Amino acid sequence: MRSLFCAALLSATVVFLTGCASTSGVGRFHTVVLDAGHGGIDRGAKGVDGSTEKKYALDTAKRVERRLKRAGYRVVMTRKGDYFVPLPTRAAISNRTRGAVFVSIHYNWASRSSASGTETYYYNSRSYPLAANIQRELARVSGNRGVKRARFHVLRNNLRPSALVECGFLSNSGDARKVRSSSHRQRLADAIVRGIVKSSR
Ligand SMILES: [Zn+2]
Repeated sequence: MRSLFCAALLSATVVFLTGCASTSGVGRFHTVVLDAGHGGIDRGAKGVDGSTEKKYALDTAKRVERRLKRAGYRVVMTRKGDYFVPLPTRAAISNRTRGAVFVSIHYNWASRSSASGTETYYYNSRSYPLAANIQRELARVSGNRGVKRARFHVLRNNLRPSALVECGFLSNSGDARKVRSSSHRQRLADAIVRGIVKSSR
């Protein structure tokens, strides 16, 4: 998957090629803006078992927050509870936080119930190493769907290196069963933390 992705980018730009060859970092940073997807009236995806994306996204973000703080990072959360935060506000929180990277945490849904695994999105080339480092670690925990580029609002309107993580499909019975387990969510969080830490260079 990874080599295919690199091959696909060969004709794109030198920046992309460099990012692929040596998935390095995004420069030094000491602050991480964590964005738990959805919240409040926006419940996000609904799982086959009735679980909600907003709940799992916040739970996972809090696990990432704890680990990052323990590792000495400053963490800014775009939401800390079950309430609605508009997308422009999430991007604005990131944009006013100097020297930070931004990581948005989501769980996925697809009408095709067989779709499963993890994937990480980025928008600009500067953010590619962050997304690639996180996805490389997530792939060790749960199925690898690769690194993808998308024009998501919180990525497109973000001045910081930024990535959006999809931690598994609530529409897939296998993924949903795993995600119900707090130890699995902790493994996902630990993988996200490793990817973030590796990007600070
Ligand atoms: Zn979502």
